[in-house]
Amino acid sequence: MCYSTGVFFMPLSYWLVLGIGALLSFWASSKVKSAFQKWSQVGARSRRTGAQVANAILQAHGILDVKVEPVAGNLTDHYDPRSKTLRLSEPVYHQSSIAALGVAAHEVGHAIQHAQRYGPLQFRSAWVPVAGLGSNLGLILVMIGLPLAYSGSPLLAWIGVVLFAATTVFTLITLPVEFDASKRALATLERGGILAADELPGAKNVLDAAAMTYVAAAASSLLTLLYFVGQILGASNRE
Ligand SMILES: [Zn+2]
Repeated sequence: MCYSTGVFFMPLSYWLVLGIGALLSFWASSKVKSAFQKWSQVGARSRRTGAQVANAILQAHGILDVKVEPVAGNLTDHYDPRSKTLRLSEPVYHQSSIAALGVAAHEVGHAIQHAQRYGPLQFRSAWVPVAGLGSNLGLILVMIGLPLAYSGSPLLAWIGVVLFAATTVFTLITLPVEFDASKRALATLERGGILAADELPGAKNVLDAAAMTYVAAAASSLLTLLYFVGQILGASNRE
């Protein structure tokens, strides 16, 4: 163990765990990029743009206080509950591809969750500040605390782990929020006749790939958390 060389020198196994997480998220984000790329080449027969579809779905749900606006970049689409603004990346906002309509409907799904006070979304929003604290302070305390755990005082490392666990909880609670938004999106696209039956699998492909990025984030956070717990327990058992 190289803990004694300094508090910020983590063992090689830590970088391995970090590397696995980075690989997972790289794999997931390349999947979503290629799925989006593929289905953004295929025009939807309804010929409506992402912005038009988003506005239509909002109206159909009686949600009249959510703005839809374009935002720069690719795959930067998101719903901002504080300002009740649905921001669609320029390709999604302006295009009428199967990918664009799938993503637009997914983001509207978040606006609907917000309007209907969907439990997991409310919990997730309330959890944001806690998770923010955990991702910074938690990691620092674990890094300082692990060498101390090896010299017999694991308390600081445990406090760090508890804080870090708050970020893991955040990545886990994000999963039902994202799955639900995609489920709502596909149902709305089908029910509203926005995409035909043979167009829906393309939209599903894009949304499933996007969901995998959240699964990858949750898996790598959970892996890191378990690794930290294992390290502290291992340190305690050495005595
Ligand atoms: Zn989403």
